[in-house]
Amino acid sequence: MNSRELSLGGLRVSGLRDGFFSLDGGAMFGVVPKALWSRSFPADERNRITLGLNSFLVRGGGMTVLIETGIGDRMPARLKELYGLVREEGLVGALTGEGVRPEEVDLVVNTHLHFDHCGGNTRRDEEGRVVPVYSRAEYVVQRGEWEDALEPNDRDKSSYLPDNYLPLERDGRLRLVEGETRIAPGITVLPAPGHTRGHQAVKVEGGGRALFIMGDMVPTAAHVRTSYVMSYDLFPLETMRQKKRFYEQGLAEGWIFGFMHDPEHFFGRVEKREGKYAFRPQVIEPTAG
Ligand SMILES: [Zn+2]
Repeated sequence: MNSRELSLGGLRVSGLRDGFFSLDGGAMFGVVPKALWSRSFPADERNRITLGLNSFLVRGGGMTVLIETGIGDRMPARLKELYGLVREEGLVGALTGEGVRPEEVDLVVNTHLHFDHCGGNTRRDEEGRVVPVYSRAEYVVQRGEWEDALEPNDRDKSSYLPDNYLPLERDGRLRLVEGETRIAPGITVLPAPGHTRGHQAVKVEGGGRALFIMGDMVPTAAHVRTSYVMSYDLFPLETMRQKKRFYEQGLAEGWIFGFMHDPEHFFGRVEKREGKYAFRPQVIEPTAG
């Protein structure tokens, strides 16, 4: 069984999905040969693998916090087909299932501003204007990521779609942070560069336990090994350095890890076996309340 709920003291974390999409398996695993990665991710006839569009909802301490917003409902048909996008109720539907309305969300965190992490930040209203979905929320982004999204480089330019983030600034909903920042009781964002320069991870702490949400640093459970780094990463050696740094801290402090693109696991453990890092599923546990 795979858990999608976690209790950390007074905080309750729920793993939710905007849907699933597909990316080239080779690009997802960088230098790792297909003979190895295809054991955990079988490729389709276009060499694509299916990934989750995972989000985490954190409730408690008087706050409702959403980490990542998925792809959202504004993707053009051509790109939907290219990315094999499968959305049914979408993230807003999943939130409704949890009894949360978009206007009840206090904070939204984007680990970075690639479309598969912030596409659900905004929607098109009746007049055709693109507006924030979470109308009362502050959206938390690292300043370095924001600057790069305004002036993206040619390598990952196609992942930065301005309608996903410019309306936040226009409507005064953007909160830029610099470096490690406590954004809510028990919730801290931490720089975790590599995938992009301004990429951030999120740590949620309560009741003496911690969940570390890794964003695209370690997108799936199959990416736990240090050298399993995506070709998309702008600074792969930096990704590897950050993975080791956070794993070591997590092993010492007993962290649970959160995965942004795993199609099955929201949560898991990282173990060290014969000097190599390995994934272990998080056992299901009862939720408080
Ligand atoms: Zn991603």
